[in-house]
Amino acid sequence: MSELAAIVSCVDGYDPDALPVDKARQAIRACLRPVQETERVALRAALGRVLAEDIVPAINVPAHDNSAMDGYAVRAADLDRAGESTLREAGAALAGRPYRGRLGAGECVRVMTGAVLPAGADTVVMQEMVRVDGDRVTIPPGQKTAQNVRYAGEDLKAGVPVLRPGAPLRPAELGLIASLGLGEVRVRRRLRVALFATGDELASIGEPLREGEVYDSNRYTLHGMLTRLGVEIDDLGVVRDDPALLEAAFRRAAQHADVVITTGGVSVGEADFVKPLTAKLGEVLFWKIAMRPGRPMAFGRIGDAMLFGLPGNPVAVMVTFYEFVRDALLCLSGRTDDCALPLLGAIAADPIRKVPGRTEYQRGIVHCDAGIWKVRITGQQGSGVLRSMSEANCFVVLEHARGRVEAGEFVQVQLFDGLI
Ligand code: AMP
Ligand code: MG
Repeated sequence: MSELAAIVSCVDGYDPDALPVDKARQAIRACLRPVQETERVALRAALGRVLAEDIVPAINVPAHDNSAMDGYAVRAADLDRAGESTLREAGAALAGRPYRGRLGAGECVRVMTGAVLPAGADTVVMQEMVRVDGDRVTIPPGQKTAQNVRYAGEDLKAGVPVLRPGAPLRPAELGLIASLGLGEVRVRRRLRVALFATGDELASIGEPLREGEVYDSNRYTLHGMLTRLGVEIDDLGVVRDDPALLEAAFRRAAQHADVVITTGGVSVGEADFVKPLTAKLGEVLFWKIAMRPGRPMAFGRIGDAMLFGLPGNPVAVMVTFYEFVRDALLCLSGRTDDCALPLLGAIAADPIRKVPGRTEYQRGIVHCDAGIWKVRITGQQGSGVLRSMSEANCFVVLEHARGRVEAGEFVQVQLFDGLI
């Protein structure tokens, strides 16, 4: 048995001719080897990349105890618990301009948000609470010791690792790293993904459409989905169903890429034509996945690159990409967190047809109705009806064992927006 076949055969319940979605995911996951090379990049350019070093703060953030409010820094011991207290304003501290003295008994210091807490002070009273008369500041009872103070290191502590290799760098992480004064960061190199579409019926944009042809749209949806994942894309165009041309395309794609994605040519009728070729160039498994759409899919290796042979139907391309390829690419990019798209609950507004024994990814529109999330299916659900994806804002994910859904039942949805 060859290498990938040996790995995937260890997945409990593995059956290439009736593969449940979760088994396919496990099988893919077991075969992935993340990229190891790293590079240093400027902080802004690190957005969307995967961290390749420990970020250990050399400083505390914030560096000093400081005020969380505009108000007055006081010594809690000076405040009367039962009645008002009147203190003398001894000076002021602004953000970036500390008060140089030390607070004495009966004194307070005017402080702005972010100002270093003056020495001797331990509590801040909001300005809205006090009465001021010249340098006399009167504070009502009921203040709590240490209120409105932000402590040095309460965000990030010097010496305590804050981010680990494998972390995704999102806007929050860019800010976090910037707050440590770091202008560069070490990240994994970008994943390189080559793609091509196969099919004798495909015309490229700019060519006239002859009888029986369709314009190739899959490379454009793939381009969009891959761009959002931040990978390098090598688009090799449309390749005819011709063994010599396909072989050349596979070889070229695998030369520099970590991953090769193709569409078309894996359906039952066509796979037998592609199989000898892929067997010659690497090791490719042809799966019938218990799902709809997206039943046929090829997974394997061409040269040193992983291969995802997606179906040709435009909706099936998107579903198999979101459900298998997306997570795999994030894992190969070095992400160590669970990257799976979250499943959220919503109520089916209408009955939904479904047969047990396969996972269905119907296209739906989720909306909020009087505080409750409800979902309805977009019109035609054919795997060639790309409009159903465009009109939808989520997949309605109907589990393997589930049958028909009645109106009012809970279903799971995966939102499209903002996730990829
Ligand atoms: P296949 O998986 O190659 O049998 O293709 C299944 C269906 O998807 C056929 O109707 C094809 O015309 C269509 N299809 C295949 N590739 C593309 C593509 N790149 N763009 C649009 N439709 C495609
Ligand atoms: Mg085809």
